[in-house]
Amino acid sequence: MRDADIGTALLDWYDRHARTMPWRVSPRDRHAGIRPDPYRIWLSEVMLQQTTVAAVTGYFERFTARWPTVADLAGAQDADVMAEWAGLGYYARARNLLKCARVVVADHGGAFPHDHATLLTLPGIGTYTAAAIAAIAFDEPATVVDGNVERVMARLHDIHTPLPAAKPVLTARAGALTPRDRPGDHAQAVMDLGATICTPRNPACGICPLRDPCAARLAGTAPDLPRKVPKKAKPVRHGIAYVARRGDGAWLLETRPPKGLLGGMLGWPGSNWAEAPEPAPPVDADWQAIAAQALHTFTHFHLRLTVMAARIDGDGADARGVWIADDRFDPADLPTLMRKVHTLAAATLRHD
Ligand code: SF4
Repeated sequence: MRDADIGTALLDWYDRHARTMPWRVSPRDRHAGIRPDPYRIWLSEVMLQQTTVAAVTGYFERFTARWPTVADLAGAQDADVMAEWAGLGYYARARNLLKCARVVVADHGGAFPHDHATLLTLPGIGTYTAAAIAAIAFDEPATVVDGNVERVMARLHDIHTPLPAAKPVLTARAGALTPRDRPGDHAQAVMDLGATICTPRNPACGICPLRDPCAARLAGTAPDLPRKVPKKAKPVRHGIAYVARRGDGAWLLETRPPKGLLGGMLGWPGSNWAEAPEPAPPVDADWQAIAAQALHTFTHFHLRLTVMAARIDGDGADARGVWIADDRFDPADLPTLMRKVHTLAAATLRHD
């Protein structure tokens, strides 16, 4: 089967089976002339980096209800955006999201640029996201390659070179398939195929629109592809989080430094995160260790946080951080790791 015929088979399948997503214009609406909103495509793509559609949908709906346009988002308070982002992880992305919205408004008149090269100059937009916006929002023939696309290409052509070394050849194969007509729908079709039919463990080859030309199906190698170089085990770091509560119920919190993990987010005061962390209590107190630790995995390491809890007599004015009254404190505003710490400390520091 020629590349053009494979592309046609994919688009025919997409026209019948496209997934519904709040940011997506369906193939039927697209045929009727409705265009996607680049702001919504950009926002969804940034949110979807390292996260699933199911996890992102609620966040996307809250963001777009509160900030319906890129200009609205550009004018938002940093702390409000970080609080809405809490739980999505990878907080550098939220900071870049705001920076990018402000650059689009200040330098591009509030309209996202169409082409891949200019999109790449925007904060937080890498090769994949630029290609996805160019293709999906503007129907530019950009080649979009995510994990789903890599898997489909490796199987379709029975490529056994392990990732990441296989990336260039998989990208070239995906590029050869990208049509000039409907490149946006084509990109979404390959992604949908990878997410729903050509899945990592049990590809449903029997109902796949590419079953005839698929080389891995014929060779019986599909479930083993793509091959990957085994990952190194992640190191474990340790840290100490301090949860202090005053007699009036207020909690002691701290805004983390702008750079680094969870940068700019609200959290519990704590130590450095290392093999042997240095204790750094934010205030003199009778600190009690909670029996369980808060466990969290970042991209490059596992973290085990020892949680210390203390009740503070007096106003705690000499403490490092800021006291937040109980009726203004909502654990949902904290990043996931800090919420885990709160859950562990809350029973010890219950305020009746
Ligand atoms: S035939 Fe099977 S392995 Fe090949 S693309 Fe389709 S689902 Fe994937």
